[in-house]
Amino acid sequence: MTRYIVTALAFALMAAEPMAVQAQAPITPSAQAPVREITKIAGEVYRFRNNNHFSVFAVTPAGIIATDPINAAAATWLKDELKKRWPDRAIKFLVLSHDHADHSSGGEVWADTATVVAHENAKAVIIGEKRPTAVPQVTFSDSATIELGGTVLELHYVGRNHSNNSLVMRFPKEKVAFAVDFIPVNAVSFRDFPDAYIDEWIDSLRRVEAMDFDILAPGHGPLGTKANVTAFRGYLEDLRTQVLVAARAGKSLEDTKKSVDLSKYKDWGGYEQMGQLNIEGMYRLVQANRRGN
Ligand SMILES: [Zn+2]
Repeated sequence: MTRYIVTALAFALMAAEPMAVQAQAPITPSAQAPVREITKIAGEVYRFRNNNHFSVFAVTPAGIIATDPINAAAATWLKDELKKRWPDRAIKFLVLSHDHADHSSGGEVWADTATVVAHENAKAVIIGEKRPTAVPQVTFSDSATIELGGTVLELHYVGRNHSNNSLVMRFPKEKVAFAVDFIPVNAVSFRDFPDAYIDEWIDSLRRVEAMDFDILAPGHGPLGTKANVTAFRGYLEDLRTQVLVAARAGKSLEDTKKSVDLSKYKDWGGYEQMGQLNIEGMYRLVQANRRGN
């Protein structure tokens, strides 16, 4: 019933490795109760919300395939909800979208029943940066497929973008693709492009555009479609081109910020707060990578 078919070149299975919980997530008191909910996307695939963070999971006859736990409290809440709704289905797999702590934290909550899966680069960062989550037990380099109770989940590494280990998780039956932080839906990018690889990011978006899916489930904000992938690639290309022109003209960061025109994205989420930071980050990346002389 439970099997995974791994098509990756480099594949490490260390089932005997103990679940290592590296640290407790800090508990930050909040005046407001967190907003948590489960909504159905399509078929067996559901969306899990914790405030502004989202992940997906699939409920199969043989158990549950879960993705980002988000944090320990959120993971505990979801585990309890799943037990209420589907008392006979344990979380059999936990697949991490990428290593960043605001999505990957809390994996230890599900690791009693789940095999933890991530890109091989994610494992190295999770250990190196002491992310407060379970260390991945199964890693791969290019792609892998999980099959549980007749449900298939394809895991694709599309290259470096917002991290060096971001995955696209595709449910072929439901034509749903889950991708976190590197394909904002009708939104600009986060702050000043921390942990980013711009040229490879654009290439990775083209690879996503070539995949077969109808619904894009991002890690933040509303659901989208493949058109959102194309639109965001257009934004990155537009921003990079404008910043490169300014940099080649010898403009300072301040002058570049004045000359770059992103007004056609003014209705996108984060435009007011992050738009100028996006220019700053792109300027830093362009200056670091262009052939200045
Ligand atoms: Zn991230």
